[in-house]
Amino acid sequence: MDWVTCAQSATCTGIARRPYDRCLAHLPQDEVTVALAGMEPGRLLDLRGTTLSGDLLRRVVEATRSRPGRARLDRARFTGDVRLAGVTFAGDVSLDGARFERLASFFGARFEGNLSLASVRFARELSFHGVPVRGHVSLDGAVMSRDALFSQAVFGHGLSCESARFEGYATFDGASLGEAASFRGARFGRTLSFRKVSGSAGFDAARFAADAYLSATGRFSAARARADGALDLAVRGCGVDLRRLVVAGTTTVRLTDSQADLEGAVLHGAATVTGRGASTLTSLCEVDAASLALHGLDLSACRFAGLAHPAGVRLEECTFALTGHGMRVSVSLPMLRWLSRSRFSRDRSSRDRFSRDGSSRDGFSNRLSRRPNAATQPLE
Ligand SMILES: [Zn+2]
Repeated sequence: MDWVTCAQSATCTGIARRPYDRCLAHLPQDEVTVALAGMEPGRLLDLRGTTLSGDLLRRVVEATRSRPGRARLDRARFTGDVRLAGVTFAGDVSLDGARFERLASFFGARFEGNLSLASVRFARELSFHGVPVRGHVSLDGAVMSRDALFSQAVFGHGLSCESARFEGYATFDGASLGEAASFRGARFGRTLSFRKVSGSAGFDAARFAADAYLSATGRFSAARARADGALDLAVRGCGVDLRRLVVAGTTTVRLTDSQADLEGAVLHGAATVTGRGASTLTSLCEVDAASLALHGLDLSACRFAGLAHPAGVRLEECTFALTGHGMRVSVSLPMLRWLSRSRFSRDRSSRDRFSRDGSSRDGFSNRLSRRPNAATQPLE
């Protein structure tokens, strides 16, 4: 700790308040009154390491007229319910390493600067529902032991939840992620509902112990993530990185004007990828999926090398390439036949015959004929 701690006991981490040698929680009542009277709206609030009961916190909020400035609350301990409705934090707020032993409700509060909740422990429910934060929010390494609500929250300059642990149900439905949200290495013990969010989201190496309902706009990544239950993803206008994703349950991916890469994914349950608008798959290389249904996707740039179960792939209304006339063609033949046809076409004579036949016979384009190994060799 980089502050002078309370003289009350060796175990009290509360910052000593000048001119006293005790923290706010250990001052005599008359001195608490004097200390609170010295607090003003918009001014620095420094309660680092201090234990705040529900009553003491309420008196502090009142003393700042619900508008503290920069708030330093690192390693503070909140022993009562925390309800911050109506409080506007005018400056940056740091709560790194703080402990919330009961309810933590930020519902109705506003943050005009950044908010750091790194390594915070929330022992009970956490509500951040609808909270607007103008700056950046960090929950890196935080532990949420019960349900955590972030629905409708607005993160003006992004959100970082790297290595955070969400042990209860977690929801971010309708949240606005600002620049981006990172959940790299985060762990979700129960269902995660991350529906209809706006902004980019990264779940690289995250672990979903239960079902996960995910969404994003812009960029979405769940590379090397692992889902023990079902994984459901709906994205719009998004680049999607699902490389080496492992899903034990069903996988449902809905792309709208989006581009997805599934290289190396292992999908144990039934998997479906559907596309709307201009949606493309760029790679199914090394994908291990016993049952994979592809619907409405542009596969003209898709790489297939090492696809483990081509017979398990079902295609519906997918396009492979532009025809010589510049029109998209649709194919609905089994993937196995497609792959064998592609191998066959390596033979120049058969390829020439294939080309002479034109592209209409089974829907393959001249472009594919000119690049006979496109299906079985990576482009790079
Ligand atoms: Zn103390």
